[in-house]
Amino acid sequence: MNILVLNAGSSSVKAAVINPATGARGLEMSADRLLDAPRIEFSDGTVIEPESKGPERTIAVCLEALKDKLSGTDIDGVGHRVVHGGEDFDRATRIDEEVEARIESLSKLAPLHNPVNLRGIRAARALFPDVDHFAIFDTAFHQSLPRRAKTYALPKELMAEHGIRRYGFHGTSHQYVAAKAASFLGAEPRDLRIISCHLGNGCSVAAIEFGRSVETSMGMTPLEGLVMGTRSGDIDPGIIDYLHEQAGLSTSEIDELLNRKSGLAGLSGVGNDMRTILDKSMAGDADCQLAVQVFTHRLRKYIGGYAAIMGGVDAIVFTGGIGENSPVIRHRASQRLHYLGAVINEDKNSTAELSETVPVVDFSMQHSRVKLLAVRTDEQLAIARQCGKLIDKADAVNTMPSIPIAVSARHIHLRQETLDVLFGKGHELSVKKWLSQPGQFAAEETVTVVGPRNSIERVRVLGPVRSKDQLEISRTDEFFLGIDAPVRESGKVEDTPGCKLIGPAGEYDLEDGVICAWRHIHMTPEDAATFGVQDRDVVEVAVSNNERALTFGNVLIRVSPKYKLEMHIDTDEGNAAEIRRGDQGVLTMTGQEGTLRKRKVSLSS
Ligand code: ADP
Repeated sequence: MNILVLNAGSSSVKAAVINPATGARGLEMSADRLLDAPRIEFSDGTVIEPESKGPERTIAVCLEALKDKLSGTDIDGVGHRVVHGGEDFDRATRIDEEVEARIESLSKLAPLHNPVNLRGIRAARALFPDVDHFAIFDTAFHQSLPRRAKTYALPKELMAEHGIRRYGFHGTSHQYVAAKAASFLGAEPRDLRIISCHLGNGCSVAAIEFGRSVETSMGMTPLEGLVMGTRSGDIDPGIIDYLHEQAGLSTSEIDELLNRKSGLAGLSGVGNDMRTILDKSMAGDADCQLAVQVFTHRLRKYIGGYAAIMGGVDAIVFTGGIGENSPVIRHRASQRLHYLGAVINEDKNSTAELSETVPVVDFSMQHSRVKLLAVRTDEQLAIARQCGKLIDKADAVNTMPSIPIAVSARHIHLRQETLDVLFGKGHELSVKKWLSQPGQFAAEETVTVVGPRNSIERVRVLGPVRSKDQLEISRTDEFFLGIDAPVRESGKVEDTPGCKLIGPAGEYDLEDGVICAWRHIHMTPEDAATFGVQDRDVVEVAVSNNERALTFGNVLIRVSPKYKLEMHIDTDEGNAAEIRRGDQGVLTMTGQEGTLRKRKVSLSS
């Protein structure tokens, strides 16, 4: 299969033909200076310098030249990088007129990017009308940001009206390098907490907790966060008004200042190229030295912050032109991280050379609990792969069973040791009611849960006893109790908060184990084969046989021969969807990189 990957920017267009299965690259094209003196270079050495005919026509001219070059090459699909997917797009999406219109309507959020991306889409669809075109959004991977992370502290009506929230960017790269880092470490992204630092001309950090982006430094626009080539990153918003009042700058001048004249370029006075800045700082240039210091200080601040947010970190990944190639910046960013468990190996850092054959280098000490990795990003390959998966599965229209939905009330799983303290030595749970999952039961026993604000009595104990204590509560319970519990899959209780438990025989201080259960589906391996999913895939389930049609994203698959097919959600989610006994859901699609197996489902329940 061959995917043509296109990235149409305001002054340049990049294209590559990539086989998503092997990663093999065919023809590549790079066109620059579209606005004044277009120059198109192909990987076979051909250079074309067409006349500039305005941005729209010039993109079409570039693509026409590309099409000529590609005559005789089978193209199975075209993947377009699109910067802003707003609230609408949380994954790669096949483009039709409606999708085009939605991308266009998102232009107000990304006026510099979406209109030019769309120009590329329209030109390419006209030139390659017989194949499917896909949009791959920079924001999509960050759609999993929890509300607490994506919400600015502004009046909520204003934010709702104008779509103001943190969206995050560089998602394709963060997702790709997290997967690369995980496979290098012999793990899956869903088993790791990763801080990914994409340091190119644009720079951003993402906190990727067990496969999901939970924080990222770019916000509603790519201007927030780290110091970048020409962008300021974080500043006091008060400076904007101050500049307007005191320096007499208009809003568009301030925008230009913050986006194009700030960052490394603004601080160093020698442009935005980190190589030049590092060279000059070594030669004693004080401005360049300060630029490097401000750049890495900010980065370290984010790394520490994101470790705090995830309650720890397993790997810190450096990527992008600077992250991949600069030992100095990696050193400055990852020194003195011992408190996190990250210890740099200076030798490995200074000799790290990434290449096609060495895409990951570990530059941490062997005893470093947190791995420090330099990882080569490849957004074009990531785009090609996402397209390939969508094409592969496009025709897989399956009829699949619907999934019964059960609402789990708050409950607690206990270890025998805890049970002993709460109910007396050697206490055995007595069965009140067998649950649908074989062998599981609601016990007669209940406990009182005490949080910093309130307590909840009669929290049902579920049996049989387990190897870890685990209290599963809803968000509403959390606020009532005054506990801030993370969304976790069952069993993953490390670095979660605790609470006090009271039973008839005694009290027990639970050190950790309070979670808000990640909504999940239990199924057998046979069910998993039918649905085309694997244990711990993340899928989407539509519930439409009630008054409020609703789609649950981020639903975790749990596979075991012991399970019975059933989706579990908590009481808040059940209430939101007005779930009633007997309601069923429909698996619509899986959504995470590495497990993106699209299923179009036609279903009768
Ligand atoms: P983009 O975000 O445009 O894709 P890149 O990821 O290519 O950009 O990153 C460009 C940045 O990487 C530039 O600041 C460049 O100076 C920097 N860079 C590339 N190689 C090195 C190097 N060996 N040392 C330091 N910085 C480097």
